[in-house]
Order: sequence, then C-alpha cells, then structure tokens
Amino acid sequence: MNPTTQWDDEDKRADRAADTFRQLFGASPDGVWAAPGRVNLIGEHTDYNDGFALPIALPQTTLLAARSRTDGLLRLHSAQGDGRITELAVAELAPGVVTGWAGYPAGVVWALTEAGHPVGGADLHFDSTVPTGAGLSSSAALECAVAVAYDELYALKLTGPELARTAQRAENGFVGVPCGIMDQMASVCCTAGAALHLDARTPAHHQQVPFDLQGQGLRLLVMDTGVTHDLADGAYAALRAGCERAAALLGLAALRDLSASELPGALLRLPGELVPLVRHVVTENARVAEAVSRLREGNAAALGPILDEGHASLRDDYRVSCAETDLAAAVAQVAGALGARMTGGGFGGSVIALVRAGEESAVGAAVTAAFEAAGYRAPRILTVTPAAGARRLAAVGAR
Ligand code: ADP
Ligand code: MG
Repeated sequence: MNPTTQWDDEDKRADRAADTFRQLFGASPDGVWAAPGRVNLIGEHTDYNDGFALPIALPQTTLLAARSRTDGLLRLHSAQGDGRITELAVAELAPGVVTGWAGYPAGVVWALTEAGHPVGGADLHFDSTVPTGAGLSSSAALECAVAVAYDELYALKLTGPELARTAQRAENGFVGVPCGIMDQMASVCCTAGAALHLDARTPAHHQQVPFDLQGQGLRLLVMDTGVTHDLADGAYAALRAGCERAAALLGLAALRDLSASELPGALLRLPGELVPLVRHVVTENARVAEAVSRLREGNAAALGPILDEGHASLRDDYRVSCAETDLAAAVAQVAGALGARMTGGGFGGSVIALVRAGEESAVGAAVTAAFEAAGYRAPRILTVTPAAGARRLAAVGAR
C-alpha cells in the first residue's frame, strides 16, 4: 500500500469501488461496506484459551461493493486478486470446494447457510488497503465485510458478535485456519478512539476502553517486517493443542480459568514442555487486565512496559517471535519507544511500538537502519489510530 492509498478519503475509495463494480457486473451495487484490519495491543494467543485481548481496528479497510442476486450465484472479484471473477453456486458451497482467496468470502456465505440463515447469491467486488499476510488480519477484514454486507442485503439482523462468530466459522470450517475469535471481533465490534476489551469466552460482553493517543501526546507505530515463516500454520495448531492438553491435565475448561495466583502451584503439576505455554497464557491475561486498568485511568503511556513484557513472554515462553520481530521490538525499545512488541500470531508479521509524539520518525528510522544492517528487507512502517469497526459507508447505494 502506498501512502496516497492509505490516507485516501474513504468515500472516494467507495466511489471507485462502485465504479469498478459497475464495469465488472453491469449494474450498480446495492451498497458499499467497509471492514478494518486490526492490531492487538496486548493479549496474544489468549483467545483460543477463552481469555482476553485488547485489539484496535485500523484505519486500513477492506471495501466491499455488493449487490444481491436472486439466482443463487456468488460472483467474486478482488482488486488484490488475480483479475478474474470467481463464480460459485451458493447451494454447492462446501469445505474443500473453493481454493485461494475466494474461500474467505465464500466461507462466510457457507457459514450463514450452515447456521440456517436464508441467504442467496451476490456479486461482490473487494478493494483493500489492509496489508495482506502482515499479521494485521486482512483475512478477517475480508470475511467481516461479507458478514456485514450480507446481514443487510438479506435482512438478517445479527449482532456484532454473531457476525464475528460467523466470520470465524468461515475461517475455521471452510478455509481451514483454526483461528480464535479476536480478529473478527476486532473487525466488527471496535469503535473509533477505543480499544476493544474482549472476553473470548463471552464475546457479547466486550467493552470499549477509551484509547486517546492524540490527546495524550502518543503515537502507535505498526512495523510490518514483511516476513512470513512457513511453520506458522503447523506451529499454531500445535500450540493450541498444547494449551488444550494443559487445561485438561489441570481439570479446567480452558486456561483462562487459571488465575495468576494459582499459576505457581499449577505449573508443578504439568509436564515440562507445557509449563512455558501455560505461563505465557496466564501472565498474558493478567497483562490485558492491567492494560485496561491503565487505560481507564487515562494513562496510555503506562502500556509501554506491558508491551515489553508481552514481547518477552512471546519470545521466551511461547516462542512465536522470530529474528526479525525480536530485532524490531528491541531496536524500538532502545530508540526511545515507551514499549514495543510483536503483534498477531507470530513467526513474522508486524511489531507495534508506542512512542511519544514527535519520536515516531526516529524510532522508525532506527528500526529501518537495523534491518538494513542485518540484511533484512526494509520494514513497512505505518502510524495508526484506533478506528471504527465494520460498517456500511453512506453516500453510495441506490440500484
Ligand atoms: P492476515 O490476515 O494477517 O493478513 P492471512 O494469511 O490470515 O494473513 O490472510 C491473508 C490472505 O487473505 C491472503 O493470502 C488472501 O488469500 C486473503 N486476502 C486478504 N485480503 C484480500 C483481498 N483484499 N483480496 C483478495 N484476497 C485477500
Ligand atoms: Mg488472518
């Protein structure tokens, strides 16, 4: 994404998406919807343990121009795709049938039909400014755009958490990625100027926590290392299985049910290889609680040390960081960031750094120089603010 695209006015992007839709499908869309990517401030690898997280939605969004169809056909096109229109029959959607990017949007339609919702076909054109594969959840943005558009096109009236659950089911059951609920909850339920305090056990009970970067003289940098390591998929599933085994051994429904004060005793009852996993999950849940307290006191700068601790825990206990994310976090910390940590599932992806306003260039430059010296690809650096969740964009609409 280049800077012009990133800061482009969303209404203009929506107009462009509607124009392209007309060229592709020969009619105007019923509307244009937007769903954002996300970064998680703290609470990593906790959602599938029924635990807590604190994501914000990004200003970067996936736009979807959509028009319902009455013949049961689903036609999909993405400005970031291969240029072709993928045509599918809603009635024939099943796991394994659709490969490639189209699986994400088709999976949402499948998940809606599986849940018994009376949905049919549609023409869908996507255009996104969310970097893909950077740990910023372009996949959830893609899914959630479809979920909110279908909710309106087919008058489903589902709640935000229900839409998020549907999008998650698409990724789990149709695409085959065993992700938790955080990404989709962030994309659907975040609000501008706030972080989302997510309880993955009861997503409906999420809370908005004011996160006023601007007012407190702070900036949040997202540094995309451009790295994705192939072991990510297998490792994620193995970590998830390890957590489930630990919970079972401890007689708990999920690791979320283990408190920080119970942790030392519990660790004595576990095989050695599960100890660091459990320690990460329990301390990470505690870090989310602490971060929420600091934000509620209006002290966002106090997130700094919490981010640093979170990174150390992911690096040393959960072991999902990599050389590039470790370097970006360490250099940002030394260059004056209040705190920095890898964000997302790990094995590459992005690092966030909380910095005082005015210091973002120095911190970014230090990380860029360190990457050059190490022979790594230059990181892509964005300054982000907590943005709104998925929504219909006004101004476009009539058939
Ligand atoms: P992340 O969600 O962190 O960006 P994932 O690997 O989960 O990374 O999802 C990235 C995949 O999602 C891409 O490889 C592509 O298949 C799909 N995707 C995301 N956004 C788009 C888009 N705008 N157009 C086409 N495919 C997309
Ligand atoms: Mg994803």
